Amino acid sequence: MAKVFVITGPSGVGKGTLIRALLDRLPRLAVSVSATTRDPRPGEVDGVAYHFLSRTEFDRRVAEGAFVEWAEYSGNRYGTLRSELDSRIERGIPVVLEIEVQGARQVREKMPEAVQVFIAPPSRETLRTRLVGRGTDTAEQVARRLQTADAELAAQREFTYVVINDRLEEAIVELVAIVERELAGRV
Ligand code: 5GP
Repeated sequence: MAKVFVITGPSGVGKGTLIRALLDRLPRLAVSVSATTRDPRPGEVDGVAYHFLSRTEFDRRVAEGAFVEWAEYSGNRYGTLRSELDSRIERGIPVVLEIEVQGARQVREKMPEAVQVFIAPPSRETLRTRLVGRGTDTAEQVARRLQTADAELAAQREFTYVVINDRLEEAIVELVAIVERELAGRV
């Protein structure tokens, strides 16, 4: 069975950057494209960044059981489609999920064999600086994401691996080492 890697942690911690670096180094990994009801940000392409769905369409797919997990986050819904996972797993391709903590817990229940990695910021202040600096969210959205981050940070001890994203290069090396070790079965 191909491995599933769950990469979780608060918004703004650098999950996306770390996952891009992980894929550069281990190109045989595939990333699951999530579905969301949030509006696309400038430059985000449908089917690449996310599958952008209306609330009605999202809920219809929830009802038909199309999601492995889904969660409400900062006023929008996000979920992992079964179709993103099944075909890869059948073909032996390891898949990476970039999801928030509630979704990671659901995956842990349903797929206890999935590898769970929590990406933590060196401090809450770093997280705030990154969220503001990213410039993708309004002040109100940043405040909301930071509030959620407090609960997410408290959950980090639930996870098998915690990688602190202080110096990016070091965090990349650490994440790549975890994934390589798990893929090789050396754990
Ligand atoms: P953003 O709006 O910044 O793209 O994402 C907000 C949060 O939702 C991030 O923490 C991101 O990792 C998470 N997220 C993205 N896709 C999924 C998904 O499929 N399921 C869950 N549970 N969370 C997701």
